[in-house]
Amino acid sequence: MSNFHTNILTESSYILLDIDGVILDQNFDNLFWMEWVPEAVALNKGISLNDAKKDIYKTSKELYGTLPWYELKFWEDKYETNLIAIAEKNKSYAMFIDGAHEALQFMASLEKRIFFLTNCDSRLLKIKSSQVPLLDYADSWISSVDIGVVKEDQNFWKIAIEKLNIQPSKSIFFDDNINIVNSAARYGIKKSVHVTEPTNNNSVIYESNAKMQIRKLADLIRAD
Ligand SMILES: [Mg+2]
Repeated sequence: MSNFHTNILTESSYILLDIDGVILDQNFDNLFWMEWVPEAVALNKGISLNDAKKDIYKTSKELYGTLPWYELKFWEDKYETNLIAIAEKNKSYAMFIDGAHEALQFMASLEKRIFFLTNCDSRLLKIKSSQVPLLDYADSWISSVDIGVVKEDQNFWKIAIEKLNIQPSKSIFFDDNINIVNSAARYGIKKSVHVTEPTNNNSVIYESNAKMQIRKLADLIRAD
């Protein structure tokens, strides 16, 4: 099996992967924040679903890309709602993106060091990974919520690189968030790849002008 994409993988010593939108179907998070959480908040607060959505979207817009945005605790405190119970109830929506499982199996066969770097709160990740066996493929993983600094921030990369003992110049990194792809590249991970199709139902497809981009991890194992 060999194509351009396979080569960029085999040339690297460290494979760094975002989770949601790269390994797992982003649709879980989209439904979680845009439907299930507003429904629970509406019910809890005795307000209309429309009002709950409006309020949550407004807060979300203000905090986009910052630590509280990713932290379950922030939302639980603000809306006095048990988000873990919502995630548990809907965990069957957590699933691999088509081809991602096979791509991870291929990566594992290369005997590289594989690390997952996520902004997903580890409490939420725990529920997703109880449903989908993704963590079996990682030598280790870091949640930005645990270390208190998000991937958009240069300090995240400093901490992650020291903690995992990796060399940026020998690493390849995949993320579906272009701001994060650029953040990693700025820190020195030149092989930062934008993943442009984060859902199985194609409800989101990013236009990208990133130097390195793929649609899905499945592209890495395509034989052409
Ligand atoms: Mg992502």
